[in-house]
Amino acid sequence: NKQVILKDYVSGFPRESNLYLTTSNIKLKVPEEESGKDAVLVKNLYLSCDPFMRGRMQRDLPPGEPEQSSYSLGSPIVGYGVARVVDSRHSDFKKGDLVWGRTIGWEEYSLITTPEYLFKINHTDDIPLSYYTGILGMPGITAYFCFFDIGSPKEGDRVYVSSASGAVGQLVGQFAKLIGCYVVGSAGSKEKVELLKTKFGFDDAFNYKEEHDLDAALKRYFPEGIDIYFENVGGKMLDAVLLNMRHHGRIALCGMISQYNLEQPESVQNLIAVLYKHIRMEGFSVAEYYDQYSKFLDFVLPCIKEGKIVYVEDITEGLESGPAALIGLFSGRNVGKQVVKVAQE
Ligand code: NDP
Repeated sequence: NKQVILKDYVSGFPRESNLYLTTSNIKLKVPEEESGKDAVLVKNLYLSCDPFMRGRMQRDLPPGEPEQSSYSLGSPIVGYGVARVVDSRHSDFKKGDLVWGRTIGWEEYSLITTPEYLFKINHTDDIPLSYYTGILGMPGITAYFCFFDIGSPKEGDRVYVSSASGAVGQLVGQFAKLIGCYVVGSAGSKEKVELLKTKFGFDDAFNYKEEHDLDAALKRYFPEGIDIYFENVGGKMLDAVLLNMRHHGRIALCGMISQYNLEQPESVQNLIAVLYKHIRMEGFSVAEYYDQYSKFLDFVLPCIKEGKIVYVEDITEGLESGPAALIGLFSGRNVGKQVVKVAQE
């Protein structure tokens, strides 16, 4: 059983050398003992690279990080993925079922003893299975509920999305267009900016790395200000956005990837704008929304089938390619949702 193991706890920017590959033995059968009474043994097909995994790679979790724990040194790292059930003692899953969920180890086969965050995959017609790491999985649920519940959008709103070509961002922009918003996204390369404008239908897009004055850039795209900011990056971008929010604007705080590798998070200079402009800024946690997964599927599956929403993935092949793919999230290597294909379906 090939595995990706955490070698040492990370501080600062993660490196490929923090992870290594090894092989261990595994019995392809759920144990008969008590520990296996609800267990499911799966063959992993796709692994999802997600920014939150960086937090779990450090010894002490980021302050306030809920219901997570650090990875154990010497054990495979764990995240979201898509898998096929090989053996099961759990009444909800049987051999041959396809599943997605967040307890998938970075290895060829995983024994999942508490499959509470495992979902059975029921829709596969004309839909790539890998979509369950993205648009039909955790990032999709995040984009949908964080945008609609926290952003409270309405037709005509001016929406700004950062990290806009990524797993979550590309969906937020498309959801906003569906209800008639004006949408601008930012991303870190020319290729990504082109994708936003041509593939995802954003009204406009810019490369934030080429803007030495983010405030001036936002004023160019939003001369009348921003109604909704979908926040993925934090730091200097948030500060510039605060100067450009409209009265009663909303900030849907999904993530702050620019802060995850810093020893000391940057302080926000312009927070007082929240007070003066009566801005509503609210953090989001996808964990609170899994009970609404079927509502989300009812919305998004027809959108995919009718071609109203498209999804771009960046799939690398083989578990060996996993460490570089995961760490690449923090340098913007991924174009679209970063996935690692582990085995043939
Ligand atoms: P992406 O697919 O967007 O990948 C990460 C991207 O972040 C990179 O490609 C890069 O894009 C950008 N990035 C990396 N480092 C920096 C930096 N220092 N400054 C600015 N941008 C940077 O990831 P996801 O779509 O999966 O996640 C997007 C955000 O949503 C993250 O902050 C994540 O933590 C958050 N999230 C939150 C959830 C929740 O429940 N609250 C659930 C899921 C995700 P570029 O080339 O454009 O710079």
